[in-house]
Amino acid sequence: AKQKGRNNYQFFTSCMHDAIANRLTLEKYLRKAVELNEMELFYQPKVCLETGRIMGMEALLRWNHPKLKLISPTEFIPIAEETGMILALGEWALVEACRQTKSWQEAGLPFLRVAVNLSPNQFHQPDLPEQIRWILEDTGLDPQWLELEITENILMDKTADTLNTLQQLKSIGVCISLDDFGTGYSSFSYLKGFPIDCLKIDRTFIQDIPRSPKDANIASAMIRLARNLNMIVVAEGVETKEQLAFLQNHQCHVAQGYIFSEPLSVSAFENLIEKGRYR
Ligand code: C2E
Ligand code: CA
Ligand code: CA
Ligand code: CA
Repeated sequence: AKQKGRNNYQFFTSCMHDAIANRLTLEKYLRKAVELNEMELFYQPKVCLETGRIMGMEALLRWNHPKLKLISPTEFIPIAEETGMILALGEWALVEACRQTKSWQEAGLPFLRVAVNLSPNQFHQPDLPEQIRWILEDTGLDPQWLELEITENILMDKTADTLNTLQQLKSIGVCISLDDFGTGYSSFSYLKGFPIDCLKIDRTFIQDIPRSPKDANIASAMIRLARNLNMIVVAEGVETKEQLAFLQNHQCHVAQGYIFSEPLSVSAFENLIEKGRYR
């Protein structure tokens, strides 16, 4: 038994070693990723449930490393956040999403609103509103076509600064969405105190509908709450017809998820929006 214990221990340390080495490798490659053109944005449609029309899309980062292949943002975003690299990466994503959206508009495709995720680190940069302003000016995208997705954890700290930043962003004319709603440190006072346009119900509340009556109740309560506060309500991670029917019955405005489409490359997304609708 002792022998086995020792082997397990060795196995454990060698795994730890691998994990640390792996992380350092990722970190080293990540530093170069933007300049080496390895980052790409994929786009996932957001669909209006009343009309079946695509009304916007979420831009999601993809990293194609020549040796490591496709690396998921759930792996590299946390590293980018801890190392501060998220600032450069996030700026790249903002510029690229605005540039692409403007270029689709100029190509005669339907006008869509692009949503870009902001990390807490980015949000708390004092020059964020200034940065958004110059990016819109540089790319020529009208502010109404840009949406910023923030998580409720951003709203938790530094209330006065946070409110000030949100008000500055609103005065530029962009939309603010509260992402992953219900999973962080939620508080109704956020909804009352901050200028939020859209509420995105997290996938974890959608995935077990209709099997879980609890989740169904929570989701329908969130929809009602958002509607009563005059916010647009978006369900994320919608995968099945049953979920879609439920959301339609409960008057959710917008849905996003594999039932419509996975996040798509630029060319695949172009093909999709040329059609423009799902029904
Ligand atoms: P998120 O903002 O909550 O994005 C939604 C995630 O759910 C995406 O994962 C998307 O591909 C996935 N998804 C969409 N529909 C479905 C569905 O029907 N079922 C399931 N199971 N999943 C679905 P992805 O692209 O891997 O991104 C993961 C997270 O990485 C994002 O979560 C976001 O927090 C972060 N992220 C991605 N791009 C950026 C970025 O440009 N900046 C920042 N700060 N974070 C980003
Ligand atoms: Ca998001
Ligand atoms: Ca989300
Ligand atoms: Ca999520």
